[in-house]
Amino acid sequence: MVIKHLAKAMRFGEGKKLKVLEAEVPRVNALEDEVSQLDDAQFSKEMAKLRKRHENGEPLESLLPKTFALTREAAKRKLDMRHFDVQIMGGAALSQGKITEMMTGEGKTLVATLPVALQSLTKEATHLVTVNDYLAKRDAGWMAPVYDMLGLKVAAIGHEAAYLYDATIDGDDKFRQISRQDAYKTDVVYGTNSEFGFDYLRDNMANSLEQKMQNGQPFAIIDEVDSILIDEARTPLIISGPAEKSGPIYRKFSKIAPSLKLGEDYEIEEKTKTVSITDAGISKAENLLGVDNLYDNVNTQLVDHLYGALRAHSLFKKDVDYVVKEGEVLIVDEFTGRLMFGRRYSEGLHQAIEAKEQVAIREENQTLATITLQNYFRMYDKLAGMTGTAATEADEFMKIYDLETVVIPSNKPLIRDDMSDVIYKTEEAKFKALVEDVAKRHEKGQPVLLGTVAIEKSELLSKMLKRRGVPHNVLNAKHHEQEAEFIAQAGKKAAVTVATNMAGRGVDIVLGGNPQDEKEAEQVKASGGLHVIGTERHEARRIDNQLRGRSARQGDPGSTQFYLSVGDDLMRIFAADKIKWVMEKFNLPEDQPIEHRMISKSIETAQKQVESHNFSIRKHTLEYDDVMNKQREIFYGERDKVLGHEDLTNQINDFLASMIESAVAAHTTSGYPEEWDLKSLFAFYHQFVPVKVTEKDFNMDTVTTDEIRDYLLEKAVEQLDERRKTLGDEQFNQMIRYILLEVMSERWKEHLSQLDYLREGINLRALAQRDPLVEFKNEAFNNFEQLNESIKEDCLHYVFRAEIVEQPESMLDEAVYDHSDYSAISEGETASDSSSDAQTTTYTAGPKVGRNDPCPCGKTNPNTGKPMKYKKCCGKEAS
Ligand code: ADP
Repeated sequence: MVIKHLAKAMRFGEGKKLKVLEAEVPRVNALEDEVSQLDDAQFSKEMAKLRKRHENGEPLESLLPKTFALTREAAKRKLDMRHFDVQIMGGAALSQGKITEMMTGEGKTLVATLPVALQSLTKEATHLVTVNDYLAKRDAGWMAPVYDMLGLKVAAIGHEAAYLYDATIDGDDKFRQISRQDAYKTDVVYGTNSEFGFDYLRDNMANSLEQKMQNGQPFAIIDEVDSILIDEARTPLIISGPAEKSGPIYRKFSKIAPSLKLGEDYEIEEKTKTVSITDAGISKAENLLGVDNLYDNVNTQLVDHLYGALRAHSLFKKDVDYVVKEGEVLIVDEFTGRLMFGRRYSEGLHQAIEAKEQVAIREENQTLATITLQNYFRMYDKLAGMTGTAATEADEFMKIYDLETVVIPSNKPLIRDDMSDVIYKTEEAKFKALVEDVAKRHEKGQPVLLGTVAIEKSELLSKMLKRRGVPHNVLNAKHHEQEAEFIAQAGKKAAVTVATNMAGRGVDIVLGGNPQDEKEAEQVKASGGLHVIGTERHEARRIDNQLRGRSARQGDPGSTQFYLSVGDDLMRIFAADKIKWVMEKFNLPEDQPIEHRMISKSIETAQKQVESHNFSIRKHTLEYDDVMNKQREIFYGERDKVLGHEDLTNQINDFLASMIESAVAAHTTSGYPEEWDLKSLFAFYHQFVPVKVTEKDFNMDTVTTDEIRDYLLEKAVEQLDERRKTLGDEQFNQMIRYILLEVMSERWKEHLSQLDYLREGINLRALAQRDPLVEFKNEAFNNFEQLNESIKEDCLHYVFRAEIVEQPESMLDEAVYDHSDYSAISEGETASDSSSDAQTTTYTAGPKVGRNDPCPCGKTNPNTGKPMKYKKCCGKEAS
């Protein structure tokens, strides 16, 4: 009775899950009368009572009906929207940590308020993950009156700043800027996946507990969960700094790449985007570069440069794979058409493309911290997601994230007409035909949305529409805010909108454009509602479904159709034979579309194949990343201990004991004291501890190894105490903390690049009949052990010798230590601190920081990966 057409949506297994959710609906409805009697002011008090009950042991499930009823009533009063029964079901599914598939236009933004309110009873925040910064602020602001009435605080974190909703502010924009730390203390934080992920990484580069922003990862609700956990999962978040200068080499290779001939000097493989170079190609490159042997040991890198340059020139296309914007090469997400700010291709490919496009080459970056989105989101205690398209990927969500998918029925039955595909022999014929189709629909006042796979295609279509005299808008996922406005208008009478897959995603297309204008809405409905045309099929069915989902929201009329051509990538690569067969058999003229069951079927088979291939790539990546993930957890845990401990002396004493123990053991292997290599032992010891120990300190007739060990340790501890006395407890501790953190981050950075390197080379092991993953695990484990050893040794080097520089009034809570004058370790090291683009964070204080210097707080600009400039970061207020 509650939801009439529910039965239709019931599938085997699915039905049971829905029944559980459906059971919540009457419970919430039963409380509606009661909560509608309350004054506005009573809502937050009711929430406080529920919070108390939870504190006293009542589980969230039993508090759900009341919390949902209060939230629904608040939305009714503040937003004039009463959560539909299906939205209550969706909210319950999210509260259980599931993925809810709800069609576009079903009101997922409103649905999220329910689980957020319930989570707030635990006093732990919900992180609400949106696809872009614009939507974070829009959704937070839109739902804020509901939260406000319930007494919950709402924040939005953007790339530049964090904001708090403050109902007392006059005017439309009720956000005021707050610190990121404070933003994370609210009940619900809206932000993009990168912001949350980068904040996590930055937290683990923080130099004090106060600098940390997040308080763990309690609960996340991910909007458009498929695009974030599947499409974007493959690219890791990386914070990096520049390392070596190699710009001229990239330019050199970029210059010679076009002289090499495809098919003669090298071959390409489009599916995997790889290049193989022939012997002829190598010789040619050697001649052009004037080097003897590209494969010479010293020159091995040159070969990598050649591969990079050839890939950049032959496989990566401007405006398809990437765009050039303000002198920067930005990756275009192949699934969504969205620009991936802050992401770079790895292994020098990005620089090779920069060289090809003749823009500034950002130097080879060194990774300072990294995590994949997969692993970031797997850290959450509870994870939930919403999207219009999850069902095709339910298996992956389950296997990788342990997330169940539930398909929630729509509020009103879906009456969309998905027409069958039409296939043309050539792209030209296809575009001609579809432009005619658009023009006809436009003339009768029907709005049309055209989805393209690449910016280049959008522009071509736009030209053709112009020629045909059809006015239209083009959206390229470049300006989220402006495009949101355009897309919101895409349902107006006779509107024609050309958009890449992702442009304006998350924004609802209302028929008639304005919910208040019923007359126009009726006219549009009469013309058939929004018609969506796909200009190519995507690799994944899910992306095609996203496009179709734009049409026929909330029971509206609407229709969709895909126009294909034999030249489309997917068809060319996967269905070429079938098409040839049909074409030969029927011998059709150019402008006559082919419609054959066999082709449609083989397209779908191809899509399924690619989907599962991509899934296995993601799974494979994850297996490697898991190794790294465990190490990251341990390392960050150790780092947190350093931040949290008041007194770090014990840690140093442990380091000393272990270092001395193993040094003594190593130098006293053979039987008699006179055979021991005590001279080297004492010399080694002296490298760390500034005490001269000689054989004269012992009675060589009776001496034992234990005696030597104890004496060395005793002397070292004495020295350390001496330092503690001179410096005072507080400064001594600060010094140790500073040294530990510096050494740890320096070594971690190295470790990361070692693992990268290891991973690149590991596949060669497969040739030797060994399992690369097992090999990788073993070697990564060894590297990690070495990392811990070297951290120990380095810290001991510094602890006895670090000089303390006078510290003026500092905005940092750390002291300023300069360790450049310690010869034993400065040997062979470059004074990286002196250049302004050094990747290490140099701590100087007060007036010493130039406005253009890296900010001493160590924050990195996630877009560029470069350290934030002082004037743009902590020095903002000062200037
Ligand atoms: P989705 O993200 O699911 O595509 P949105 O959250 O953008 O959908 O909402 C789509 C539209 O539906 C919005 O204009 C919103 O105002 C409207 N809407 C959602 N829920 C309700 C409701 N319970 N009552 C009335 N309108 C609603």
